Amino acid sequence: MTAERSAGPMKWYGWGDPERRLSLGDGAIAMLHAEVGEGHPDGRAPLESVVVPPPRPLPPALAETVGPAAVLTGHEHRVRRAAGRGYPDLVRLRSGRLDDAPDAVVLPGNPAEVARVLEICGREGIAVVPFGGGTSVVGGVEPLRGKFERLITLDLRRLHETRVDRTSLTATLGPGLRGPEAEEALAAHGVTLGHFPQSFEYATIGGFAAARSAGQASSGYGRFDELVTALDLVSPAGELSTLETPHTAAGPALRELVLGSEGTLGVITQVTARVRPVPKRRRYAAWMASNLASGAFVVRALAQSDALPDVVRLSDEAETRVALGMSGTGGGKRALTGAYLRLRRRDHGCILVCGWEGEAEAVERRHAIAARILRSGGAAGLGSAPGRAWERSRYEGPYLRDELLDLGYMVETLETAHSWSRLEELHDEVRAAIGAALATQGTPGIVTCHLSHAYPDGASLYFTFIAPRRPGSELEQWRTVKTAASDAIVEAGGTITHHHGVGRDHARYMRAEIGELGIETLRAVKDRLDPAGIMNPGKLLP
Ligand SMILES: Cc1cc2nc3c(=O)[nH]c(=O)nc-3n(C[C@H](O)[C@H](O)[C@H](O)COP(=O)(O)OP(=O)(O)OC[C@H]3O[C@@H](n4cnc5c(N)ncnc54)[C@H](O)[C@@H]3O)c2cc1C
Repeated sequence: MTAERSAGPMKWYGWGDPERRLSLGDGAIAMLHAEVGEGHPDGRAPLESVVVPPPRPLPPALAETVGPAAVLTGHEHRVRRAAGRGYPDLVRLRSGRLDDAPDAVVLPGNPAEVARVLEICGREGIAVVPFGGGTSVVGGVEPLRGKFERLITLDLRRLHETRVDRTSLTATLGPGLRGPEAEEALAAHGVTLGHFPQSFEYATIGGFAAARSAGQASSGYGRFDELVTALDLVSPAGELSTLETPHTAAGPALRELVLGSEGTLGVITQVTARVRPVPKRRRYAAWMASNLASGAFVVRALAQSDALPDVVRLSDEAETRVALGMSGTGGGKRALTGAYLRLRRRDHGCILVCGWEGEAEAVERRHAIAARILRSGGAAGLGSAPGRAWERSRYEGPYLRDELLDLGYMVETLETAHSWSRLEELHDEVRAAIGAALATQGTPGIVTCHLSHAYPDGASLYFTFIAPRRPGSELEQWRTVKTAASDAIVEAGGTITHHHGVGRDHARYMRAEIGELGIETLRAVKDRLDPAGIMNPGKLLP
């Protein structure tokens, strides 16, 4: 599985291993042409020709602290840390012109060096952007200078220690470990975090904690913030450490304050998280619900009967149709599935992928209980093949996004969450807002959604939209749709983000999310930990 190996540097203008290319089949391209028209392919600039402003000189004390080899000022290093991996990031990278890039990339080798770097930057007035895998899709690693003239990116890859406490089933991990590196080290002790976001190949432990990431199996293993039991934060004002105990009633949890702080309070230099034995058995299966309402009903029934599978992902009608249309499944097999679904009157339904992981006996028992609830909720079993196919291809989406960009399409995702009683309304309103915003720009598109990360009281919704790009106005096109979707989310009372975080793109919605006093409270904490305001300016707070 791709995810199990440690990847090298990411494609500088897109996602993933530069050697790995995935192509859409002819059927998928024909479907795109039929539904949204042809794209407008762009000519991507080569890396060497990407224009970035020249770097400002930095104090020699930085190189004296981390060593000269750990201060990178070369063009490629600066370009590679100048953007995350959302659609607007990719548009800017591919355009060959970046408004800004860090003046240097600094790689501290231990928490003491982090502390010293922050001290120098605070004194000298240099903005600092903590950088894990750079996979933020909300502008979290954008080099925004705020009031400062100089800016460094603090790449944390050299902080990669691993310590496993097999008795307590916890692991203490360096923030710079990428997903596969962490899992490889944990596997040597027979344990796993069970945290597998789609960005797993490149995202890091520090980024998971700083942006409150949720993996694809979060319904079973828990979101990353739920796994964390303790962490260390090096802030410009000093070090904040939380105690490594399973729980404490000693006041509000400082751990919670650091989780989701997105580099605005300091640098997370160590994370202790709960781990589990590597599962002996994995069982994946797919089901078909007749529509989104009945699918959501059955996922809610699972969640409220304490019978949730570890992975639950319910596609809406549009996502199901597009997934079937774009899948590599050969004609014969697809026709067979189609005939079966028609027979069961589910040919326009919603696919539900479920996965169970753990001890063989527990997996079978949990599967049997869930299958009973699924059947009584009207879902039709499609067997294990489509479930396994989803498991095999779970990290392929971002590679296909590159292919779509090459073909001249805009592809973007956004997510939210709400309680069950408001979830369908949220789905319909956000979907309609995205569709209308695309149409008003003369680029009607495909809008799909899936429900995942289920809880007894609600679930997350994850939208994807695809439309031909508007050459020369890509960012304006994206902004119009993103604003319409975000406004619809706020209007419907959903959260502006369930797991992508706030970054730059969602900062202006934080007032709606936590209110003015909430903003002032977070600002007061920031003022105490980061008095000069050097940490990740322009992110999280409006
Ligand atoms: C293709 C794709 C798929 C994705 N799928 C998912 C998914 O399934 N689930 C999900 O939750 N997210 C997903 N994301 C979003 C992203 O991967 C997550 O937010 C992830 O947690 C970011 O990790 P990172 O190491 O890349 O962090 P970065 O992008 O490097 O940083 C994210 C934020 O955290 C800060 N930060 C990073 N490290 C530290 C640190 N040590 N201390 C303090 N601040 C720090 C940064 O300054 C920034 O504000 C996806 C992104 C992409 C591009």
